[in-house]
Amino acid sequence: MSFEKLGVFKPLLDAIKDLGYENPTSIQTKAIPYVLAKKDVFATAQTGTGKTAAFALPLLQRLRKRQEGKGVRAVILSPTRELSIQIYEDIEKYAKNMDIKTMILVGGKDLDAQRNKLKAGVEIVIATPGRLMEHMETGLSLVDVETFILDEADRMLDMGFTKDIRKIHPLLPKRHQTLLFSATFSDKVRKLSKLILTKPMFIET
Ligand code: AMP
Repeated sequence: MSFEKLGVFKPLLDAIKDLGYENPTSIQTKAIPYVLAKKDVFATAQTGTGKTAAFALPLLQRLRKRQEGKGVRAVILSPTRELSIQIYEDIEKYAKNMDIKTMILVGGKDLDAQRNKLKAGVEIVIATPGRLMEHMETGLSLVDVETFILDEADRMLDMGFTKDIRKIHPLLPKRHQTLLFSATFSDKVRKLSKLILTKPMFIET
């Protein structure tokens, strides 16, 4: 299989070629076509399998380019600041030939500075659930969100973020895509998946 055959478009093909990616990994081969087709996805994947690119590449392709006047169009929830930074750095590399802005919302940084940056226009937000809630309480709107991604969902739930995720979800627009990535199919994750996924495609790696 090749990234080209999976339907990945030129700006991304050029970027991943520069990174030395020759062929898609198993999770990428399975996930990319579903994400491009706007399906909900429930995937179990460990770190190191290429799971970040499995959601980030088709996400970027779906967003394509900036749309003036729109708010945040994709939210990626992650359990920790470290993982958020890792996702951010990967997305920056993949999006280098595209006009898409990404930002991290995690604790420990000045809320006002983050708010100003958000106002200037950002397509993708990578956030820990608690920090996203804080921004929503002070005006961040999710009405333009097209894709909602939960990375390492089992870890987020174990860390006590269930309540936050349950509060965030109803504030997304009715029609949106949700991608849930988890290292395990724990009972907690299964329960959450029933609440937030619509006719999901299941992927095991
Ligand atoms: P992840 O599972 O997302 O933490 O990715 C693990 C590592 O694999 C990261 O350093 C990625 O840059 C790298 N990677 C992801 N996809 C590919 C690929 N198709 N070919 C080679 N390396 C990759």
